[in-house]
Amino acid sequence: MKPRLASGRLAVFLDFDGTLAPIVRQPEQAAISPCLRRTLSRLSACPGVRVGVVSGRSLADLKKRVRLKKIAYAGNHGLEIEGAGFRFRCKAPPGYPRTLDHIRDSIADLPSVFPGTEIEDKGLTLSFHYRRADRRVVPGAVAAFRRAVRPYQNRLQIRTGKRILEIRPPAPWDKGEAVLWLLSNRVWLPGRMPTTAVYIGDDRTDEDAFRALRDEGVTIRVGRSVRSAARYTIDDTESTARFLDRLVRLREGSK
Ligand SMILES: [Mg+2]
Repeated sequence: MKPRLASGRLAVFLDFDGTLAPIVRQPEQAAISPCLRRTLSRLSACPGVRVGVVSGRSLADLKKRVRLKKIAYAGNHGLEIEGAGFRFRCKAPPGYPRTLDHIRDSIADLPSVFPGTEIEDKGLTLSFHYRRADRRVVPGAVAAFRRAVRPYQNRLQIRTGKRILEIRPPAPWDKGEAVLWLLSNRVWLPGRMPTTAVYIGDDRTDEDAFRALRDEGVTIRVGRSVRSAARYTIDDTESTARFLDRLVRLREGSK
């Protein structure tokens, strides 16, 4: 893998939670270590290297947590993308915002009925979290959510993640599509120079990106004991930091 990474143009895509920032019980407290932020900053300054962070978090939340200028951000699983000189927002069908309004109303009382569950409104998407709910509460909460959404299910998509159910627009768009969109973006990657893509992620939603890059990307899944479309696996966020640190030294050394 080393010769591919040492020279030529490189696009490094990174998931946020569980990849750059350790998973914490309160997601609002998830953070990148100062040391890793410095590494990311140095990596994004290396000639021929582009860095993109791809997350299920909203674009605004993601930018606030990473706080680096030279990076491209894909929030909401890639439904919203932003970088220096470009912006993309996936188009939802005209009726989708109203559908989301109806659902917002019908699930509003779930957190009070099922303690520990939460609703997160990310504009284009709506998430139902149950990671803080007692195990005995979860089956009832999930069933109630699905019941509330059922009347609208042909007008949206429901995705499952780590202790989360998420309502998304009925568009064939995911982290894989977002990564391919960035790779074909000539503002981000000018000219037609071949680019090696690296993708590191830990969640089910990252599998879409692993599959999209299967043929030519360097794909790395964080966490063992899962079946994955990624070619390589590493242990945890510290392994991500070590890998990126080596990558920086490799690229800075090749100047
Ligand atoms: Mg993750």
